[in-house]
Amino acid sequence: MTAGTAASQNAAKVKPLVAFEVEVDRVQSLSPHFKRITFSSEQLRNFGSDAEGNTLDLRIKVMVPSPGHPLPDFAELMETHDSNWYQTWLRMDPESRGYMRTYTVREARPEAAEIDVDFVLHPPAAGVAAGPAASWAEQASVGEPMVLIGPNGLAGPCLGIEFKPGNARRVLLVGDETAVPAIAAILENLDAEVTGEVIIEVPEAADFQDLKAPAGVKIQWLSRAGAGAPASHGELLDAAVRATILPGSQHGPVELEEVDVDAEILWETPDAAHPPIAPSGPESEAHRLYAWIAGEAAVIRELRRYLVREVGMDRGQVAFMGYWRMGKAESS
Ligand SMILES: Cc1cc2nc3c(=O)[nH]c(=O)nc-3n(C[C@H](O)[C@H](O)[C@H](O)COP(=O)(O)OP(=O)(O)OC[C@H]3O[C@@H](n4cnc5c(N)ncnc54)[C@H](O)[C@@H]3O)c2cc1C
Repeated sequence: MTAGTAASQNAAKVKPLVAFEVEVDRVQSLSPHFKRITFSSEQLRNFGSDAEGNTLDLRIKVMVPSPGHPLPDFAELMETHDSNWYQTWLRMDPESRGYMRTYTVREARPEAAEIDVDFVLHPPAAGVAAGPAASWAEQASVGEPMVLIGPNGLAGPCLGIEFKPGNARRVLLVGDETAVPAIAAILENLDAEVTGEVIIEVPEAADFQDLKAPAGVKIQWLSRAGAGAPASHGELLDAAVRATILPGSQHGPVELEEVDVDAEILWETPDAAHPPIAPSGPESEAHRLYAWIAGEAAVIRELRRYLVREVGMDRGQVAFMGYWRMGKAESS
């Protein structure tokens, strides 16, 4: 075997996704519905990021133990079963294998071997329990072992980041409470000259956060608790987006294929099927708008209908992401 072949075989063995065995280092209550959990582990020194060292809206999997059971050995599972590890895990006893939930890295500090994840403490609703991840976060204590599945920094720039504004210098960021960690991390990384609008709906005014953002980015916080009767999930967000981005204000209405959020995941990000429309006329590169929209799937579906059908948003410049579904647990 030549040295070159050995090197390329070693490179091929560097997995892009790995299990980080971590422990809860700190627990901080940010507001009534947000808890920041700092995980630490020497392994996190190799936590991945994009080519600039940022994590933006990077998603990871948080493995939550089933009550009374330790988590399976994910490092071994992923090592032994390679790309089939997820199917192998699914075949384990559902009573004891734990739960896999998707979260955003609020901040990664590989130099300090730490990661922050901001958990929304969503309440039980209409007889449905709060969910294993939110329940776990509610009572998390320092020293608890956990497993995070995330990008391997040794494998180069990571996958799992959807915020891709390209050359756009104007942004629209829209989300509910589950999107706050991603929006906060995105805003911290925007260039100072970027302008735009951020619209965020959270359960109550005490959940508003002081976010660091460029001076030209306006942040609008909406509280569902409000003054009168509580608003339904997404009601204020939908109204605020319609008031901010007017019908026909982009490229003009287009036909749209529907997404059944009960049957499939609403996850539409720019791809080859929807390349960005080349700027023309009064719209220059500098005025090109990029939108990033995430939250409860049915709410995002309505915003997608409005922004594509009525506003004429360039589908090559918008990411629509259903982060969770009302009344449905994340699948595993
Ligand atoms: C890419 C991505 C990034 C995400 N980042 C974050 C993040 O940083 N922080 C965060 O808190 N969440 C985040 N989420 C959302 C999170 O994955 C879901 O809220 C998840 O369902 C929580 O798991 P659970 O075990 O608590 O509830 P599940 O077991 O999945 O659900 C149990 C019940 O709770 C309901 N439910 C779930 N989430 C909520 C909610 N937020 N409000 C009200 N009811 C809810 C469900 O509809 C269901 O009825 C992200 C999701 C995605 C896809």
